[in-house]
Amino acid sequence: MSSLVERDLARLWHPYTQMQTAPPPIPVVRGEGVYLYTEDGRKILDGISSWWVNIHGHSHPKLNEALTRQAGELEHVIFAGFTHRPAVELAERLTELLPAGLNRIFYSDNGSTAVEVALKMAYQYWRNRGEPERRLFVGLKFAYHGDTVATMSVSEESIFTLSFEGLLFRVARAHAPYCFRCPIGLERASCAVDCLADLERILRDEGGRVAGVIVEPMLQAAGGMIVWPREFLSGVRKLCDEHGTLMIADEVMTGFGRTGRMFASEHGPVSPDLMCLSKGLSAGYLPFAATAMTDSIYEAFLSDDRAKTFFHGHSFTANPLGCAVGLASLDVFREEGTLQRVAGIEKQLRAGLEPLRSLACVGDVRVIGGVGIVELTEDAESSAAGGYLADIGPRLYGEFLGRGVLLRPLGNVLYFMPPYVISETETDWVLGQIHEVLRALPGG
Ligand code: PLP
Repeated sequence: MSSLVERDLARLWHPYTQMQTAPPPIPVVRGEGVYLYTEDGRKILDGISSWWVNIHGHSHPKLNEALTRQAGELEHVIFAGFTHRPAVELAERLTELLPAGLNRIFYSDNGSTAVEVALKMAYQYWRNRGEPERRLFVGLKFAYHGDTVATMSVSEESIFTLSFEGLLFRVARAHAPYCFRCPIGLERASCAVDCLADLERILRDEGGRVAGVIVEPMLQAAGGMIVWPREFLSGVRKLCDEHGTLMIADEVMTGFGRTGRMFASEHGPVSPDLMCLSKGLSAGYLPFAATAMTDSIYEAFLSDDRAKTFFHGHSFTANPLGCAVGLASLDVFREEGTLQRVAGIEKQLRAGLEPLRSLACVGDVRVIGGVGIVELTEDAESSAAGGYLADIGPRLYGEFLGRGVLLRPLGNVLYFMPPYVISETETDWVLGQIHEVLRALPGG
C-alpha cells in the first residue's frame, strides 16, 4: 500500500505549487487549539491560522457542537425561494455588529466570491440607477482580492495574475500607504498621508466613470502585509463621498478581530458601502462568505423590471452549516473575551518584535492586532514588484517548520498570525524562534 503522500502526489494539484520542485505535502491528522498534529507524530504550531482563516483555534468544542447539531437538523437547502433560521439569525447578528448602514447580507462561499459579488453589485447598482457610464473600478497598488477573473482584475498585477493578463478588465490603480517604501518618498512621522492625493487625482480625472473604490482596510495582506495609517482609511471614505462613488471594503482577511477591532473599518472609523467577509466568518471551519451592503444599494435592485435583478447565486449560498458555525463563533467572541485576547497578543507582538529593528537584515517591523510582521531587507529591489518569489521565503518556511512552527513568509515578508487562543507562553516561544532564525541570517 503506498503512503498518503504518494497517493496525493499521484492525483492532487495543490495551490501555488510547482509540483516538480515543491517539498511533498505534510499529512495532518488532527488539529486542536493552535496545534496541527501530523501523521508522522509531529506537533506544529499553526502560526498563520491555516491561511488566515482560523480564529478560535482548531476543533473548538463549541463550534464542533454547533456544527454537529446543525448537520443533524438541516445540512443544506436551496436559498432561492427558501430560508432557514441560521441564515436569518446570522444576518441579524452581523448587521448589529457591522459598521452603521450595512444593513443587508448576501451570502456566498469564499473570499473571492464575496468580492466578486461586491464588484458585480456595484457595477449593476449604477446601471440600475441610470448611470451606466460608471463602470471603472479603482484599486490600490499591492492589492490582492482573490483568484477569480474579476478579483484578479482588481488585484495589483503580479506573478499571480501575469498569465491571465488578456482576460482581465482595466482598473485604475492608486498609491497604497506603504510607509516603509513610501511611494512619494516621504516619512510617516512628518507626512500628512499625502499619498492619498493619487486616489484623489484618479477620482477627479475619471469623474463620473468610477463605479467604486476597493480596498483592504488597514492591512493589505497578500501584497506584503502593509499596515496603514488610519488616516488613509478615513481619507478613502471622504474621497468616495466627495466624488459620489462607492467604497468597497474587502475585509475577507481583516474581518473578525484580526486587526484588533471586530472589523478593520472601525479603525477609521468608516462605514463602507459594501463589505466582503469570509475566512473568520465561519471561524475557519467551512467555505463560507458574505457581502454586506447599504439599504441604498439593496433598494436599487428592487423593481418589477427583471433586468434590474441581481442574477448571481451560488449553489451553497447561505449554507446552514456555515451559518451555524458563524453564529457559534460570534458567541465565542463574547464568552471568551476574544477581542481582549487579541489586544494582549498585539502588546506581546510589539514588545517581542520591536527589538528586531536593530538587525541589519530587518527593514521594518509592523504590528496590528493579532498580526506581527517583519520585512527583511534581503531582496529589497524585487520586494516591491515580485517579492512573493524572493528565495528567502521558502528557506525560512523550511527552517521554521523544522522547529515546529508553521510560518509561511510572503517572499521577504515574514509574518506571524496565530489563532487568537494562543497562550502567552506559546507566543513567547514563537517570538523566540523568530529571533533565533533571524539572528542566524547574514545581517542578523
Ligand atoms: N480578499 C482578501 C483580502 C484575501 O486576503 C483573500 C485571500 O487570502 C481573498 C480576498 C480571497 O479569498 P479566498 O481565498 O477565500 O477566495
